[in-house]
Amino acid sequence: MKYILYARKSSEDKSKQILSLESQVNEMKKLGSSLGLNITLVYTESKSAKLPNNRPLFSEMIKLLENSSEEYGIICWKIDRLSRNPIDSGKIQWLLQQGKIKVIQTSDRQYLPSDNVLLLNIEGSMATQYILDLSKNVKRGIQTKIEKGLWPNFAPIGYLNDGKGGLLVDKVRARYIKKIFKLYATGNYTMKELADLMYKERFRSRSNIKYHKSKIYKIINDSFYCGQMQFHGKIYEGKHETIIPRKLFAECQKAMEVKQHPKKKRIYFPFRGLMTCAKCGCLLTATRKKDKYVYYYCTNGRDNCSEHNHYLKEEEVIKTLSGVFDRLVVSEEMVEIMHQNSLEFFINNNPERREYLEVRQGLLNELKRYENRKDELFNLLLDKSITKEDFEKKEVVIKNEINNFNEALEKLENEQEVVLTEKDLELTKEFFLSPKKQKKAFLKVSLDDKRKMLTGLLWNLSIDNKKLAKVSFKEPFETLANSAKNTYIDNLRRGGDSNPG
Ligand SMILES: [Zn+2]
Repeated sequence: MKYILYARKSSEDKSKQILSLESQVNEMKKLGSSLGLNITLVYTESKSAKLPNNRPLFSEMIKLLENSSEEYGIICWKIDRLSRNPIDSGKIQWLLQQGKIKVIQTSDRQYLPSDNVLLLNIEGSMATQYILDLSKNVKRGIQTKIEKGLWPNFAPIGYLNDGKGGLLVDKVRARYIKKIFKLYATGNYTMKELADLMYKERFRSRSNIKYHKSKIYKIINDSFYCGQMQFHGKIYEGKHETIIPRKLFAECQKAMEVKQHPKKKRIYFPFRGLMTCAKCGCLLTATRKKDKYVYYYCTNGRDNCSEHNHYLKEEEVIKTLSGVFDRLVVSEEMVEIMHQNSLEFFINNNPERREYLEVRQGLLNELKRYENRKDELFNLLLDKSITKEDFEKKEVVIKNEINNFNEALEKLENEQEVVLTEKDLELTKEFFLSPKKQKKAFLKVSLDDKRKMLTGLLWNLSIDNKKLAKVSFKEPFETLANSAKNTYIDNLRRGGDSNPG
């Protein structure tokens, strides 16, 4: 059998405990020769394995293993050199289970095809994180940051990200911001007039575009410039340098109150802000005609868009948007692998849960034993091997035992307190496996819930010629949706379609 040596170290592997590429190769060659392994190929790669499909040589190796008729083993220093993300781990796992990889030899152990669900557990939390924790962690990070007074997003106009998580005043644009506030506080300018005036004075975006009145409105309403960060409906004190004093901000708020006549109530369009025009990149906005029909259309901000003439009825938009769920084709195998690993990880990391499962299994076994005895006893009666009296006496004893076990089981199940159960994981899996169901649900729920479903799933999408063009999913949907596009998975599907229908 031939062996492939795979060594990897990326710049993100800062830990001194990770050997250099050269040392990995040397160590493994040494180990190989002491075990008498025939190493015929050596891959060394300086790439991160955190994201799937990020390593050309790894992909080459996978391709080779998939297509080869020869038997191969892999030798690598530590298993996390092979993969640190569930998608690539899934590939390795699958090849191992298919016997296309006969063995994986690392410095401390061997992995065989019979070692079920091993790889993803190595980096333990990964699969689970991908499915359950990813967004939670991101949110938590953002929350921590904002509570420390740091802005977690892109810098607002007038500031620049300093690349170290902080903000710098953008000296050029801060000057205009100051002026906008000062002029607006006089009460003599409308938003539009300010937009036009500032444009004349060369206030432009980084891509050299005019800031329209909606942006001016946003600026005047943003207390960020006087040191208060507005985030998800709450206000936090920021540590960034202010551009205007609080007093000036308050004066502008007052000026706005005076200006705002009781206007027509603004109509709420649920899908506004979600769709962009594929042709020109502008956001699609909406309007209501004859007080009844809602239309979405490209705002044609750059004045050169052909899509601009297309008006999409609300029903059309909903139908188009429901197409998002068709894009969410995930590989069932991948979801299954991720699920299995999440499950194992979950159980392994919850000692109480594991203990519970063991005790429960013990009770179930006992229960089964007594049920069998009851059957045997009944057979004895049928065979006339025991008297009816004896039978009834013994039957009472057995029935009592069965009752006891049932009670114990019930008590155990009731006392079991778990935050997350296998059922939750099952639901997560179902969710990933059932884009069709989600599509149906999407079509049924209220407009507002439709919006919520979409914003939970994706960042935005573009419309081209009234059709869905590009969808940018949030994680982990993006990873899963991409995994299904992978040719490896396609092969896998065609080859292993054990579950048609
Ligand atoms: Zn357009």
